[in-house]
Amino acid sequence: MRALAVFPDRRTTDLIEVPEPPAPKGHEVLVRVHEVGICGTDRDIAAFEYGQPPLGSDHLILGHEAVAEVVELGEDVTTLRVGDLVVPTVRRACPDPECRACRVGRQDFCTTGEFTERGIKRAHGYLSELVLDDEHNLLAVPPQLTDVAVLIEPLSIAAKAAEQAQAVQERLPWEKEKARILVLGAGPVGMLGALAMTVTGFDTIVYSREAEDSPRADRVRELGATYVSTDQTSLAKLPAVVGPIDVIYEAVGVPSVAFGAIDALSPNGLLILTGIPAPAEPMPLPLDRIMKSMVLDNQAIIGTVNASRSAFAMAVQRLEQAMYLIPYSVRGIITKRLPLDAAPEVVLEPHGVKDIIRLVNA
Ligand SMILES: [Zn+2]
Ligand SMILES: [Zn+2]
Repeated sequence: MRALAVFPDRRTTDLIEVPEPPAPKGHEVLVRVHEVGICGTDRDIAAFEYGQPPLGSDHLILGHEAVAEVVELGEDVTTLRVGDLVVPTVRRACPDPECRACRVGRQDFCTTGEFTERGIKRAHGYLSELVLDDEHNLLAVPPQLTDVAVLIEPLSIAAKAAEQAQAVQERLPWEKEKARILVLGAGPVGMLGALAMTVTGFDTIVYSREAEDSPRADRVRELGATYVSTDQTSLAKLPAVVGPIDVIYEAVGVPSVAFGAIDALSPNGLLILTGIPAPAEPMPLPLDRIMKSMVLDNQAIIGTVNASRSAFAMAVQRLEQAMYLIPYSVRGIITKRLPLDAAPEVVLEPHGVKDIIRLVNA
């Protein structure tokens, strides 16, 4: 069978022939991969800036945003049936008995860093026709989500962020009102963040580079959010235009934008960081003002990384809600479906908001 693999030593990304996995045993499940979404993480790995092959392997099979169909079950599997549509989680627990996070199934909070991630770090991914996985790493997805289930993995970033925001804001000794959210960036993470926020009923504003009359801005408005372009409103003017904001959801990975928007935050507000910045020269920031306002206004900054099964389950719920309320807008986030043959080129150059590799025929 075919797979898309990165060879860091040779510095190539190629379609390769690999043996089919063996029959599943115990709690293992054999799945046929239907679709895999491509994101910035894949592009960073294909640019040899990120990612690690499994120990002893010269290559890493890419793909971590997958949707698949169960084709065969190990003898101990109880939670899935042949034919089920499933989405795999990505991060696998570290082996350290002292890591309390991994031992309670919350490897998203792993303290050792010795976790593996399928398609990213020391474990092969899902850009291959058949894959073996443990039933505990697979979430069954309702059939009505078939054509959008590939969005569940990236949507779990927003789901985890919402869970974290709720936990932090438990500190406020009153019932929360309708929150105002500012999403920084209209890439896939920002767009799916806006989707999760609007279907939850939050008043959502997306701030990004694309012009106010761009197709990307239209997509944002179709989700029920307000769009503000950097063309019309500079970062310095943003607080006056959109503030005060209860939660800023950062999805650009640019520190100057993340911290530049902090003046828009209300008292008791929360800045959630999800982007991973590229290495850059040190830059000046008005840390005195930021620290003063954080202290006097009880503000908080948290970083969050997706991965837990619970975040994936929440993402499934949000997507079901969204497909009920705004199905056309949800489908609009997927810009292109391409065959596996196109994968080596797609991981280098995006076509739109969200490109999908389709491994089976429609
Ligand atoms: Zn991704
Ligand atoms: Zn761990």
